Amino acid sequence: MIALGIEGTAWSLSVGVVDEKDVIALLNDPYIPKEGGIHPREASQHHSEKIAPLLSRLFETVDKNSIDLIAFSQGPGMGPCLRVIATAARLLALKLKRPLVGVNHCLAHVEVGRWKTGAKKPVALYVSGGNSQVIARRGERYRVFGETLDIGIGNALDKLARHMGLKHPGGPKIEKLAERGEKYYSLPYVVKGMDFSFSGMVTAAQKLYDSGISMENVAFSFQETAFAMLTEVTERALAYLDLDEVLLVGGVAANRRLQDMLKIMCQDRGAKFFVPPKELAGDNGAMIAYTGLLMYKHGYETPVEESYVKPDFRIEDVIVNWD
Ligand code: AMP
Ligand code: MG
Repeated sequence: MIALGIEGTAWSLSVGVVDEKDVIALLNDPYIPKEGGIHPREASQHHSEKIAPLLSRLFETVDKNSIDLIAFSQGPGMGPCLRVIATAARLLALKLKRPLVGVNHCLAHVEVGRWKTGAKKPVALYVSGGNSQVIARRGERYRVFGETLDIGIGNALDKLARHMGLKHPGGPKIEKLAERGEKYYSLPYVVKGMDFSFSGMVTAAQKLYDSGISMENVAFSFQETAFAMLTEVTERALAYLDLDEVLLVGGVAANRRLQDMLKIMCQDRGAKFFVPPKELAGDNGAMIAYTGLLMYKHGYETPVEESYVKPDFRIEDVIVNWD
């Protein structure tokens, strides 16, 4: 079977085509704000202007008629953005006379990660702009064992970068700067039970920068603190659940320092560490296509009249009836 997936929950607009074995095509046309952060209305306007040309480009390489189903990211995400891609997916499904499958975005990150790395029953650390969650399967659902109490780690990195005059997305720039950092400055380390919080440490790091500390040292201190928090909670989930695999997914999964910290923790515990290739770790249409395919094969289909968007869609809401 061949599935087409559309992703566009926030800044990324991406379409992908997969079969059971591999990704056949993946095209992206992300919204990049001229200044400041992501504005939901501007992002949705971008998506509505670009989705048709992006699909046309895709159909230059993939035969429309070979597609068996249309999957779309139903949530969580920014309402205006979700509505644009849901509309495009409904139109395509009606036009091609193919079934529609609404996919939970977080579930898609985890499933594409398992598919492409071979991780079987991992603790997944999902770290992106808007989300930061520690997820693992328990019975017929994925459960969130720990998550951010305020903003996602990606958003935190972007905010700090913006404060230091760097353009969006700030995460990769902070990573580069941090490599040249030499001195660690203490920042609030906020882990409460299995949850964590980043907004207080963003403010504290901004203050450090305002007091004259170099960008390199601020970036270094921020990464060391925030990533240690994420690693601690991931390790605790491994121990509680008696699991031995860690899967890192989301846009921030590209960060080498975070990967290294998790790798070291896994080595210490005799656990295996997995991270998918960058283009499949961040938001992308192929993960939606793949998860839609998996769900369809296990009896899922979303009638058009039930394909409304779910901005607060939780991964726990989906019954997982596959291995
Ligand atoms: P996503 O929402 O999953 O598409 O991920 C986007 C987020 O990932 C943005 O906040 C980026 O700043 C962040 N990001 C991308 N690359 C890196 C990196 N190398 N290090 C840290 N954050 C990153
Ligand atoms: Mg995401």
